[in-house]
Amino acid sequence: MEEKDWRDFDLFAPTPEHRMLAETVREFVANEVEPQAAEHDRREAFNHGLYRKAGELGLLGATLPEEYGGAGLGAVAAVQIMEGLCTSDPGFGLSVLAHSLLFANNVSVNGDEAQKRHILPRSASGEWIGGLCMTEPEVGTDVLALKSRAVPDGDGFKLSGTKTFITNAGIDENTLGDCFIVYACTEPRVISSFLVEKGMPGLRLGQKWTDKLGMRASYTGELVLEDVRVPRKNVMGEIGEGTVHMMRNLEIERLALAGMSLGIAERCLRVMVDYANERKTFGKPLREHGQIQRYIAESFAEWRAARTYVYDAARRMNLDATGQRVDADGTKLFVSQVAKRAADAAMQVLGGYGYMGEYVVSRLWRDAKLIEIGGGTLEAHHKNLTKDLCRDPSLLDR
Ligand SMILES: Cc1cc2nc3c(=O)[nH]c(=O)nc-3n(C[C@H](O)[C@H](O)[C@H](O)COP(=O)(O)OP(=O)(O)OC[C@H]3O[C@@H](n4cnc5c(N)ncnc54)[C@H](O)[C@@H]3O)c2cc1C
Repeated sequence: MEEKDWRDFDLFAPTPEHRMLAETVREFVANEVEPQAAEHDRREAFNHGLYRKAGELGLLGATLPEEYGGAGLGAVAAVQIMEGLCTSDPGFGLSVLAHSLLFANNVSVNGDEAQKRHILPRSASGEWIGGLCMTEPEVGTDVLALKSRAVPDGDGFKLSGTKTFITNAGIDENTLGDCFIVYACTEPRVISSFLVEKGMPGLRLGQKWTDKLGMRASYTGELVLEDVRVPRKNVMGEIGEGTVHMMRNLEIERLALAGMSLGIAERCLRVMVDYANERKTFGKPLREHGQIQRYIAESFAEWRAARTYVYDAARRMNLDATGQRVDADGTKLFVSQVAKRAADAAMQVLGGYGYMGEYVVSRLWRDAKLIEIGGGTLEAHHKNLTKDLCRDPSLLDR
């Protein structure tokens, strides 16, 4: 870029491809996502047809290489997609995130050529739906203590254990997802990554978690592994490399979750601004009451700051690299709370109407909370950030 043009740089859509993507997402959300969002939340049902349409539009494979059916874009595109979807339906967005970034992008970065050829085209098109299995009934934040075991068996392994809270474990109560990355120990605290496919004997769908607070349009379930025979060709990377895969993948996961929070905050702002213009109390529009102004103004300033932070971190993030944890944790730590505050402010501005499902913000308020927990809790971000900054204070110089 010429020095005189530097002010033209658009942080939120830096290239023509990003601008086109933003338009595709906007149209998809307006025409296809928004009309079904409330209904799928109410029914606690994943919309598989909508997911397939997202695949047709190229929204599931944005970060995957073009040779495998993807668009070859990076973290900025991932954030754009999550942000856009979550202005309308964060539950659906969570399923897209688990498939595209936790599963497919993870295979793209850490898998071998045969694994990529087998998995990525089916993932980009939406033919397959995938998920990532880290959490277990007794192990969440302390993930290195996971208990699932992989025991050598001929030229492969036998896997046993239970994974829980798995997004996309199923499409519905009777239909298992197609393929999963399962982290399991080959020795105590030595974690490896396995590609486990539907149809492998011993793999089954456990209970569905129903009555979740929010994100109800995503399927959350248990995955049970009972001596599942996994051939050597389905081991991703080297034995013992699972922890590195996990850490590398958590970076894009956290940034994309921050993108989801941006979408929630934006929608809440739009709703409260419209309402403050329309609703009158004591003979004047709500916008003229100082306390209402505070809800809107604080939410706006926080959202703008958050958006700039997320897109700046996204433009710096290299999907193949590791060591970018401070901003992955930093963005999610900050924006998850911004979105929750914005949703709370929106509900307050709308008064009793905000409390009613018809007005959207109560759903967003429920959805927003998940991002303070999933993909790493706020407390995990506090711990990681402090550890990284104290170990390397030069991170403050960037
Ligand atoms: C809707 C939903 C979808 C999910 N999808 C997936 C998925 O697709 N795949 C997957 O693998 N997992 C998934 N998860 C799991 C999620 O990542 C975990 O819930 C999360 O990592 C926290 O783990 P936990 O629930 O076991 O809490 P715990 O680890 O038991 O933590 C409980 C509390 O203790 C705090 N705590 C723990 N250790 C410390 C410490 N050292 N210092 C201070 N505080 C601490 C935590 O911050 C938290 O507040 C999902 C969860 C939900 C709710």
